Amino acid sequence: MTGAAQPESMIVIGAGEAGARAAMALRESGFAGRVTILGDEAHRPYERPPLSKAALTDAAEPQAAFILTPDRLDEHGITHLGGRAVTAIDRAAHEVHLADGERLRYDRLLIATGARARKLALPGATPENVLYLRTFEEARALRSRLAPGAHIAIIGGGFIGLELAAAARARDADVTLIELAPRLLARAVPAAIAAIIAARHEAAGVRLRLGTGIERIEAEGERHAILLSTGERIVCDGIIAGIGAVAETGLAERAGLAIDNGIAVDGRLATNDPDIFAAGDCCSFPHPLYGDRRLRLEAWRNAQDHGNAAAKSMLGGSDAYQAVPWFWSDQYDLTLQIAGLADEGRETVTRDLGDGARLDFHLAGDGRLVAASAVGPNGRIARDVRLAEMLIGKRVTPDRASLVDVSVKLKGLLAG
Ligand code: FAD
Ligand code: NAP
Repeated sequence: MTGAAQPESMIVIGAGEAGARAAMALRESGFAGRVTILGDEAHRPYERPPLSKAALTDAAEPQAAFILTPDRLDEHGITHLGGRAVTAIDRAAHEVHLADGERLRYDRLLIATGARARKLALPGATPENVLYLRTFEEARALRSRLAPGAHIAIIGGGFIGLELAAAARARDADVTLIELAPRLLARAVPAAIAAIIAARHEAAGVRLRLGTGIERIEAEGERHAILLSTGERIVCDGIIAGIGAVAETGLAERAGLAIDNGIAVDGRLATNDPDIFAAGDCCSFPHPLYGDRRLRLEAWRNAQDHGNAAAKSMLGGSDAYQAVPWFWSDQYDLTLQIAGLADEGRETVTRDLGDGARLDFHLAGDGRLVAASAVGPNGRIARDVRLAEMLIGKRVTPDRASLVDVSVKLKGLLAG
């Protein structure tokens, strides 16, 4: 059964980046019925990227960077119900069930439940001795540990681990970072770029332990000891793990929706129930730029773009989502940006942007530009990555020499 032809009630589960953007986009697209955002966190939707950056390093106590002010919610007639976890979706009745027993009816539903931090499964690891970072409260708790001279052990050399390491060094804490893989950022970032980031961390005094497993965690008086597979024993004042995120798919699974590395949606972000859509970190979707390869992206801009696209589809739109994947990370004075999917590349050519900045172009076997990855001082790479992203979206097969030659403007390649 599908909902009313003219939907009257739109419900968004998840008051995060994708959910907030979708609610706004429903109004921007002219929807005049009820829009309700249900969030299990008490806060209005807020930005997560600052939680591993400014929220840890700013001198002032952090405030959540709210995406929507109360005025904006009022102006757009959006109801946000905070601290209201959804426990079930009744697809036949078109209702969502809340933890407090209330039921709300929807015509179209968006699941934007994000992801949660993966927990360490290690002898001796407990919620008391290992901290994680996903929410504003967790950022606040972490911040208090990053005291000058404190020794912080970070488990995981992904984005959270590295941004935390940079924040901890900015606060003069000592840092040892332990990563199971033989290099940093093995999943999303090409090796050459990751090596520059590793060198920057070492220059800042971070002790990297790569290709290193952990046997167990023990108490050491008031402190903690981490026993590594190499036999090394690291005694520290705080342990923080950033070992990946797990898509929040429980509600969808229990409702019988299709799951495939996240809630499985089609190009319109619709699930296998035509009245239920999903967006952001929680879902996987086919990407037309990469032969409809199914992707699950954990990135801020994807969550925003998905929010906009899902709203249009909820109102009956038929466009396929095809934004070029893009994300960034700030560590020390360096920014890293990647557009496209670097692992689709078979060959890399490099443009030296000067001032220590570089831009790698990743070409598929047929010479098509499929990704661009760049690292450099803040503000030095953004414009070129933006142009590269447009080239990727246009599916160009550029001349390699032009990509390498800084005197050839990328804008010119775009026009060509
Ligand atoms: P979320 O923002 O996670 O929102 C989902 C919301 O749904 C949460 O509030 C959750 O509690 C709620 N929810 C879940 N289940 C239920 C339920 N049953 N009922 C009600 N509510 C529910 N990306 C970048 O590109 N660059 C960065 O620099 C960057 N930095 C980051 C730093 C940190 C510390 C983190 C955690 C992420 C960062 N990201 C970054 C990733 C980016 O923030 C995420 O991709 C984005 O927040 C995903 O948005 P979302 O709406 O899908 O999920
Ligand atoms: P991540 O980027 O996936 O990195 C996790 C890292 O931990 C990986 O290198 C992983 O290696 C490693 N790891 C896994 N299990 C381990 C173990 N038992 N011991 C040691 N290392 C282990 O995830 P994250 O850094 O935890 O970030 C969580 C979420 O926040 C993600 O959604 C991320 O996108 C988001 N975030 C994004 C940014 C950004 O884009 N700038 C910044 C902060 C957070 P394997 O890959 O081999 O498993």
